[in-house]
Amino acid sequence: MRIEVRQDDITTLEVGAIVNAAKESLLGGGGVDGAVHRAAGPELLEECRALGGCPTGSAKITAGYDLPAEHVIHAVGPVWRGGGQGERDLLAGCYRTALALAEQHGVTSIAFPAISTGVYGYPKEAAARVALDTLNEAPSSAITFVIICAFDSETADIYSRLLG
Ligand code: ADP
Repeated sequence: MRIEVRQDDITTLEVGAIVNAAKESLLGGGGVDGAVHRAAGPELLEECRALGGCPTGSAKITAGYDLPAEHVIHAVGPVWRGGGQGERDLLAGCYRTALALAEQHGVTSIAFPAISTGVYGYPKEAAARVALDTLNEAPSSAITFVIICAFDSETADIYSRLLG
């Protein structure tokens, strides 16, 4: 599994699945969630409504509609509350569940945003370490290509450094 960092808008990526940093309601929001729904079109919200939400630390998959990506995996990251509320395990759960869903749907390439590091306030470097540790510990699968899609240069720099 090759892991590459890229500074980009995740909604432009032509991959099997992009991961969305969603809220438990799965009914859209700001940040990457807003961008994903705008780019995918109104049918995405319709499919999300039928899913009945998703618990924090887990994820659900939909079609990509007007996106270049075939699927969207809506992962619900934890709100940062200082680190003592299970945030690490919940964030790792997002990456693990997203990979498992991708695998089940025959996806071979996947792009992740920096889940929880926007409005949800997870410290950027700590979140990047959780993301990379979880990806590296994942059982081998048909997924051959992972893009870490950083929106800001600070996040891109952190990942570039950690990836060496
Ligand atoms: P959360 O609520 O999980 O913190 P946010 O959407 O607020 O989610 O932020 C998560 C990360 O996604 C942040 O690093 C933010 O800069 C980034 N982001 C926002 N828009 C996009 C986009 N279009 N493509 C990729 N990443 C984005």
